Amino acid sequence: MDCLFCKIIAGEIPSKKVYEDQQVYAFYDIAPQSPVHFLVVPKEHISGPSAINSQNEAVVGHIYSVIAMLSKELGYENGYRVIANCGEDGGQTVKHLHFHVLAGKKLGENII
Ligand code: 5GP
Ligand code: ZN
Repeated sequence: MDCLFCKIIAGEIPSKKVYEDQQVYAFYDIAPQSPVHFLVVPKEHISGPSAINSQNEAVVGHIYSVIAMLSKELGYENGYRVIANCGEDGGQTVKHLHFHVLAGKKLGENII
């Protein structure tokens, strides 16, 4: 499949890994918008937030739990923001579900 994040998960395109388990892969964003900026993606290809359904929704809860678990290790226990852009109007550029994790400073209103 011609999907950038599927290729990153498969190791065909290099990335700076943050975390990995059976269900998810997390890696630093190539164009960070804050001191800490990484993406968490399901290993299963889901095209975006609008493709979440009763069959695949469990991974979304797992992603939030992984993000909370990593906060101490990565030094963002002071707070963070999670963003999932959806579709053209939502600013989604990569058609594989991904959650931005932004942290490391007091975040303004217009980010990502
Ligand atoms: P979106 O705009 O779809 O919500 O976010 C896509 C994100 O993927 C952007 O923040 C962009 O910087 C990041 N990105 C795009 N291509 C690559 C890449 O090849 N490697 C990494 N690590 N991040 C990428
Ligand atoms: Zn994909």
